[in-house]
Amino acid sequence: MEVNVFLLAKYPFLEEAKSFLESYSTVSFEDLSSDEDYVRAVKRGVERLKEAIVFKKISFKNENLIDFKAEVLSFPIAVAFVAALNDDFLRNIFATAEGKRVYELLKRDSYSDLELILKDQKIKFYSPEDPSSSLYRIAFSEYLKVSPQKWGKTWKLVNRQIKRGFVYVSKEELSRLVSEHVKNRILERSRHPVDAESFSGPLREGYVELKSTWESYKLKFAKFNKGSSESSFPPCMVRLISRQKSGENLSHVERRSLVTYLLAKGQSVEEIMTLLKSSPDFKESIARYQVEHLAGLRGSRKKYSPPSCETMKSYGLCFPDEWCKNIKHPLQYRGKPSSQTSKDE
Ligand code: SF4
Repeated sequence: MEVNVFLLAKYPFLEEAKSFLESYSTVSFEDLSSDEDYVRAVKRGVERLKEAIVFKKISFKNENLIDFKAEVLSFPIAVAFVAALNDDFLRNIFATAEGKRVYELLKRDSYSDLELILKDQKIKFYSPEDPSSSLYRIAFSEYLKVSPQKWGKTWKLVNRQIKRGFVYVSKEELSRLVSEHVKNRILERSRHPVDAESFSGPLREGYVELKSTWESYKLKFAKFNKGSSESSFPPCMVRLISRQKSGENLSHVERRSLVTYLLAKGQSVEEIMTLLKSSPDFKESIARYQVEHLAGLRGSRKKYSPPSCETMKSYGLCFPDEWCKNIKHPLQYRGKPSSQTSKDE
């Protein structure tokens, strides 16, 4: 397969990128320190990760195409930084931001570029059957592997067109599936142990800078946790909050259940917005409208109530603990009685 360097700059996870980068694998860190492409690549690797932490997305500008060598190389460098920092929260944030970047690029790139990427990633697919159809066919097994069913109604298999072992998807949907596949691969790659002690020169400097950025970010979130008295929250909501904070995209139902619960517990729109900012697909205006709508500040002015335990069970979101016995609604949850807490601690 012939892949041009610009495509590698956009999609540096491609198998083809490995041979492109082979020349660097035999050079020592000391020699690399004086290589200008490498120094710029480390800088961009740091930038990639900082953007993921702060903005939950990674930019792609036209100048990245001009400096394509540094752009391609910056990707494995950023993955190595994540592996060395060794924190699942960060892994998720970075992989989700890279996946989101891939999705945005694929949506606007040509059909042929998308097909090259599908082939490179060994995702079984067929192009649209006839020119009048814009629907791709993807192998059923591939669809299940990515598990998009948790993304909402339209992704559920009962709502999909399925024929002879293939699920029909639009180009945009296929781009979303590829981005999830990429995210999962990055999660896997960043779990390979990397010893930060082996870093030297620009790589060491970049690592130290990122470590400090990551620690201050975690501190900010710890402060938010403290203020939210999560210790009295039921396990179903604690789970949703922790998934939200680790940068996962909650489904519509999950987000709605969490937001209505937090509103009922007296959290302000601003406090909830701070929590939602960790979503990879966070869009300030849309999120604010949704939260304000659920709070009864928009539209029909009706304040929405959080779902009952029975409804949470039907969503597959109930994970009871021993203090859930005999309660019918998450708002009735009181957790461990305080007398018992002090006795136990
Ligand atoms: S029983 Fe109710 S409060 Fe407890 S985890 Fe399930 S839904 Fe949440």
